Amino acid sequence: MDNCIFCKIAHHEIGGKVLYEDDVCMAFLDLSQATNGHTLVIPKKHYDNVLNVDQQTLSHMMNVVQEIAKKLQNKLGALGFNVITNMNEIAGQSVHHFHIHIIPRYQEDEGFK
Ligand code: 5GP
Ligand code: ZN
Repeated sequence: MDNCIFCKIAHHEIGGKVLYEDDVCMAFLDLSQATNGHTLVIPKKHYDNVLNVDQQTLSHMMNVVQEIAKKLQNKLGALGFNVITNMNEIAGQSVHHFHIHIIPRYQEDEGFK
């Protein structure tokens, strides 16, 4: 997709702090860190949102989410996580390339929603 920022990251046309990458997906730090370690997992292929990604890709991405969350737990001491995807503007989606947020939670961010 032309002009899709996450396609550009997936194809290494622009940089990102990449934590994990394989043929299907990529995990990188969100530019705007809601909390320390806030990570996005994206498919390399462009899908607009969670309803049109194929099940095999989605399932693979969830395995990656699990692995990344375990690493963030061990390395950053996260006590919990919000794992979310926003679909359409009404739900807060601003980048229309499917992505899953992994937001680590810590004692000191109790007020963060
Ligand atoms: P959404 O609001 O669509 O659920 O989430 C999009 C996320 O992408 C936001 O949290 C935003 O900070 C992040 N983001 C937007 N542009 C870039 C970028 O160029 N690089 C990175 N690493 N994150 C981005
Ligand atoms: Zn895209």
